[in-house]
Amino acid sequence: MSTFKHPKTAHGLSTNIVHSKPASKEGFSSLPVPVYRGSSTFFDNTAAQRATVNPLGLDYSYGLHGNPTQYTLAKKLAEIEGATYALVCPSGLTGIALVAQACLKTGDHWLIPENVYGPVQALARSLKMDYGIEFSEYDPYDAATVKATLQANTKLVWTEAPGSLTFEVPDLEAIVAFAKAHGARTGIDNTWAAGIAYKPFEHEFDYSVQALTKYQCGHADVLMGAVLSDNTNAFADVERKNRVLGLGVSPADCALVLRGLLTLPLRYTQQAESGLQVARALKDHPAVAKVLHPEFPECPGHEFYKRDFKGFASIFSLVLKPEFTDEQACAVIDKLKLFKIAYSWGGPESLGLVVNVPESRKRYLADAHGQCGPILRLAIGLEEPADLTADLMQALDKVS
Ligand SMILES: *Cc1c(COP(=O)(O)O)cnc(C)c1O
Repeated sequence: MSTFKHPKTAHGLSTNIVHSKPASKEGFSSLPVPVYRGSSTFFDNTAAQRATVNPLGLDYSYGLHGNPTQYTLAKKLAEIEGATYALVCPSGLTGIALVAQACLKTGDHWLIPENVYGPVQALARSLKMDYGIEFSEYDPYDAATVKATLQANTKLVWTEAPGSLTFEVPDLEAIVAFAKAHGARTGIDNTWAAGIAYKPFEHEFDYSVQALTKYQCGHADVLMGAVLSDNTNAFADVERKNRVLGLGVSPADCALVLRGLLTLPLRYTQQAESGLQVARALKDHPAVAKVLHPEFPECPGHEFYKRDFKGFASIFSLVLKPEFTDEQACAVIDKLKLFKIAYSWGGPESLGLVVNVPESRKRYLADAHGQCGPILRLAIGLEEPADLTADLMQALDKVS
């Protein structure tokens, strides 16, 4: 039958507009996953409507709980990271909050690393104040402090590798072993590795969280997160929390992340290589005391990075010499022409910021006299590394 030939209908105009069937999908096949929209999700009959209760299945019951665009994204993320289960949620931070709230109740205790993504500290303080959920911080570079800070009521040990801002790589194997022996669940913020360079489920983690906002989206135009797991009970707890809180994501945003995934390995590797080139060039600048990048042997935890990781991200920090003031560090960033001043990373544009690092981290960054200068964080985008290096050199030269 011709695609352009349409049968007449018996209904009135408005009824027909609402009820006429869409064109047939038969014979059409293409790579992009369609944006499936829909709050009401139709059941074939009442029996089917009553039967949709399985929270871990791909049941379609109501738009908030999932549609084929969202489930396809979750499935691909699980395949990339080597997980059995995955769900997508409104942001990376939501993913971490879901894991925390799925594992912890009043009177429980969790451990977070000192160099954790900043908003997680605020989350921990809020859970403590509002729900009486206790937390302690451990030194991620000294796995023994995990053992020392574990309490009888510790139910979750959170990790991040490498740490935000200072890029120390923890001994994940030792931390997971201590937590498991204690009966606590373990989770990792695996955003830096994008699910590619580190495989948490080969190392017995219960949860991995991704900020899809970064590399998976890759184009700086979507905020989204994911929670992944290989542990049925652990995942069911997060799925339930996600459901009761009524969290949902836009299928159009899912389609953008699905498009980003097609080039994820290429962008991840290319940006990492560009970042390493820039980082290497900066090491020799007289204003720079240290470059904090896990590829460099002087980065704390380099040995664990070499043992556990199969790649690296395009984000790193510079420690300026101690004689530099915070004002001068800001001047370096302000003089950059190609770098935007912004949070986030993993997008096409290179970004730079002066960052505030907790005093506790500075003991690993100080020079022989215990001095530590200001710290700049740089996220390398898709531009030519030679242009980015030249830009950084001119900015550093001007304030040196
Ligand atoms: C950005 C980021 C997050 C949070 O992701 P959002 O989607 O911005 O909420 C969490 N962890 C790390 C390491 C990040 O870089």
